Amino acid sequence: MKQLYRSYAQSTEIFTKYSKDYEKHFTLETIGKTWEKRDINLITISSDIKNAHKKPALFFTGTIHAREWVGHELAIEFTKYILENLEHDLMLQEYLEKATIYMVPCANPDGYEYSRNHFSFWRKNRRVNADGTFGVDLNRNFPIGFISSSKTNSNIYGGPNPFSEPESQALRDFVLAHKNITIALDYHSQGNVFFPAHDFRHEDTLDTSDMNILCANMAEEIRKISGREYGIHQGKPPAKLISGSGREFYYSQGIISSVVEVGTRNISDYMEDMNENLREHIPALLSAVKEVPNYKKNSKVIRVKSFEVSDIGSSHVDLAWEYEKDENIYFEVYRSNQNKMFCMDANLLAKTQSHCFSDINLESNKDYFYNIRAVNKKTRIKSPFFPQIRVKTSLEFDEFSRTYYASAATTGYVSENLKSNHKHFGINSLFVGVDENKGISYALITINVKTLASNAIIKSASFNLYPINRVSTTIEKYGEWNVGIVNQDTMGDITSFDDVDTMDIVSYIGQATQSSQLTQGIWRSWHLSGIECLTLKKYIKNDQIVLRVEGPKELKIARSKQMMQWDIGYGKFGFGLTYRPRLELTYHVDTNITSLYPKEVNTISNKSILNNVATCGFDNEGKKIYSFFEFNLSSLPTYDYTMITKAYFELNSKAIYIKDDIRFHLEFIDENTMKSYKAISSREIIQNIGYDVSANELKNNQTQYFMFDSFAQIELNKKLKEKVDVSFILKATSSKKSIKNKTISWELLNKDLAPKLIIEHISKRRFPVKEVENAKILNDNGKTKIVWENPKDADLKGVLIIKNAYRAPLSHVDGQKLYAGNDEFTYDEFGAKDISKYYAIFTYDDVPNYSKPVFIKYEAKK
Ligand SMILES: [Zn+2]
Repeated sequence: MKQLYRSYAQSTEIFTKYSKDYEKHFTLETIGKTWEKRDINLITISSDIKNAHKKPALFFTGTIHAREWVGHELAIEFTKYILENLEHDLMLQEYLEKATIYMVPCANPDGYEYSRNHFSFWRKNRRVNADGTFGVDLNRNFPIGFISSSKTNSNIYGGPNPFSEPESQALRDFVLAHKNITIALDYHSQGNVFFPAHDFRHEDTLDTSDMNILCANMAEEIRKISGREYGIHQGKPPAKLISGSGREFYYSQGIISSVVEVGTRNISDYMEDMNENLREHIPALLSAVKEVPNYKKNSKVIRVKSFEVSDIGSSHVDLAWEYEKDENIYFEVYRSNQNKMFCMDANLLAKTQSHCFSDINLESNKDYFYNIRAVNKKTRIKSPFFPQIRVKTSLEFDEFSRTYYASAATTGYVSENLKSNHKHFGINSLFVGVDENKGISYALITINVKTLASNAIIKSASFNLYPINRVSTTIEKYGEWNVGIVNQDTMGDITSFDDVDTMDIVSYIGQATQSSQLTQGIWRSWHLSGIECLTLKKYIKNDQIVLRVEGPKELKIARSKQMMQWDIGYGKFGFGLTYRPRLELTYHVDTNITSLYPKEVNTISNKSILNNVATCGFDNEGKKIYSFFEFNLSSLPTYDYTMITKAYFELNSKAIYIKDDIRFHLEFIDENTMKSYKAISSREIIQNIGYDVSANELKNNQTQYFMFDSFAQIELNKKLKEKVDVSFILKATSSKKSIKNKTISWELLNKDLAPKLIIEHISKRRFPVKEVENAKILNDNGKTKIVWENPKDADLKGVLIIKNAYRAPLSHVDGQKLYAGNDEFTYDEFGAKDISKYYAIFTYDDVPNYSKPVFIKYEAKK
C-alpha cells in the first residue's frame, strides 16, 4: 500500500526536475524549515511565471495532518497533469492566463515522513514538547478560535500559542505576503466532504453561497467521473467547531476557504482507491482554478445589489434584482432543487441583461433554490454570488401539505450486540450499518401523522434524513442504505434487536442510497412512488407510520466498520431540532359532489320567451333559438372554506333526431344578461364550456357532459365568492347558410334527466389566519428572546420563525428555521450578537396557508 505513495524527498526531486523542464511555467521554492530542518516546499504554476504574483491565485495546502497522505500525492499529480497538458489544452491555457496556482504539497513534512516510516496514524508535527511528548496539531495552531490546552499528548494539541510552529508560520507568512490569493483549499482525508469556513457563527456569511457553490461545482466534477457524492458542511453552532485551523485563518484574510476531505480512509489503497481519488480531484481542482479570478479583491464586477422574489405561484417564481446600469454586464441565474447544489451550464436558467426573470413549469409545493451572479461580457470576469434564495412553490388549489418530524421517544437505533438498545431512543443519533463491536444496526423511526386527513390521497412524499457523519463508512463502494415501511402488526418491541430484525417490511421506499452517495451536510431524500404513497397510507396504524432504516449487514475481511450516522436532532452529536428525520407529504382529499338543478330555464326566441321549456335550434326564419339556464350556488358551503375542484354541466336531449349539420354550444355568460332576445343576442360570454356537440351525436348518446376548463372553474369560484347566480346559454350553429325550423328539446321534468350543474368541491381554508401581534426582541439575561402574541383563531395551527442575516426573508423557507410551534416566545440560542439580522414570523393554518410575515430586525451590538 505504501509502495506507490511518494516520499517527501521524491516529491522534492520531481518538483526540482519540473523547475528545469518547465521553467516558464513552474517554480519550486522554500518557505521555511521544519523542526527537523526539512525545507517546506512551495510550488508555483503559471502560464507566465514571471508575472505569476500579479494574478489572482489559488492556494493549495496538503498533508498538514501527517497521516492524510492524499494532499501530497494530489499536488504531485495535479502539477504533472497541468504541465503535461498545458501545451495543447486551450481550456487550461485560458485558466492559467487568468490565475496562478500556489501549492504547499506537504505542510507537515516531518510528520509525513514519521507516518510513512514508523507510525502510520501519526497526525501532528514532530515538535518536542516541554514535557517530552511529541507534536502539535498544526491545524489547531492558527489564531482564529485557538484553544489553549496543556494536553500535549492529545492528537489535537494546538501548541503553546498560535503560530508557535515553524510550519504554520511559513503558511502565515506566505499568505500575508500574497494578497493575490482568492481561494484556499486545504486537503485532508477522509470523509468525502468539503468543510467551508464557518467563521464561528450560527448565521451564514455573505459569502456562504460562494463557498457552497465552489465546493458543489467541485463535487459535481467528482460525481461526473466516479458517481461518488461529496458532502458540504459548514459546521455551525451547536455543532462542535474546529478551533485554530488554517482554513479559518485564510478566511480571516478575505480568502474563500475550504477543507477538502478526500476518500474514506486516512491512507487509501493506492491502486484501488487513491488512483481514482486523484483522477476525480484533478477536474475538481480545475473548476476551482476557473473561479479564482472571480473572487479577486476589489474586483469591478460586483455582486448584484439585491435579489428578490416578486411572486410565487404553484408553478412559477418571479425573480428581480438590482444592479448599477452597465452595458457590459449580463446576469446568470441558476436554479436547483436542493441546497448546496452546483451552478453550472446544466442548471443555468437565464443569461440576461434584464433585471427580472420569470421561472415557469415548476412543480407545486416544492423547494427551489436560486442563485445569481453578474458577468462582464468583455472580460468574462464574473461577480461573486448573491446569497442564495430559497422558495417553496405554493400548493395547487386542491392540495394540502404536511411536514412531519420523527417522534423522539420512539426513534432510535438497535444493535445486534448491545444490551441497552432502549437507551438510544430519543437521545442518540441513528447508527445504521455494521461494525465489529455493535454488529448489525438498524434505525427505527416513528412518525405521528394524526393531523393527516383520514380521506387524504397522498400525491407525493419524501422521507429525509440528515447525515451527520460518514466517517465510519470506510469501505469504498460497499453496501446500500434502504428505508422500509414497517407492518406494525408484526412489530413487537422496537427497542429489541430481534424484534426489529424480524419485523415485516411491506415496501422499501424510493431509491437505495449507495455507500458512494453517503454525504455529510446535505439532506438525503427517499422519494416515494405513487404505489409507495398508497402503501404508506395503508400502513398507518394508531396515527403512526414506522420506518426502518437498514444498511449493509456483513463486514469485509480486516475492515471494522461500515456504519452511517444520521441525525435525530437531539443528543450530543445532534445539530438541532430542524435536523430531525422528516416526512414531507403533498395530498388531495376526496371531493364532495353537489348537483344543482336550475332555478330557472327559458327558451328565448325572436318571438317569445317560454318558461320551463328547453329548446334550441333555428326558427322558421332561420333565427337562433336559445336555451337559457340559471343556477343558484347558495347550497354550496361558504367560499372562504370551499374550493371548487371540478365542474360540469349535464344535459339530456329528447328523442327527436335531425340529420342536418347542427352543433350545440354551451356558454357560461354574465349573470346580468337580460332575458330578452336582443340582450341574449349581444351577450357577454365568460367562457365556452366543454366542446360543442353535434345533433348527430345525440342519436348515440342522449346524455351530454360539458366540462369546465381551468378558466371557467376559476370564474365559477369567483361567482361562489360573490354569491351570485350563474347563467348559461345553449346555442346552435350550422355550416349551412339557410337552415330553418330545426330544433332539439332537452329533458326538464324527469329529475334523473333534468339539466344539472355538477360541482365537485373540497373544504379547504382559502386564506391564512391573521398575523401575530406585538412581536419584539427582548434581551433575557444576554440571550436573544423573541416574543409575540398569537391571533385568537381556532384555525391557527402554529407560528414559524425564519432568520436571515441579509434580508427580510422572502418566503417561509428563505433562511434558517428557528422555531415552529404554538408558543408565543422562542430564543435564538446560537445567534451571533455582532451581526444584524431579520426574523420573520408567519402564522399558519391546517392547509397550511402562511400569513404575511411580521418582520423584526435585530440590530447588531457594536
Ligand atoms: Zn485532517
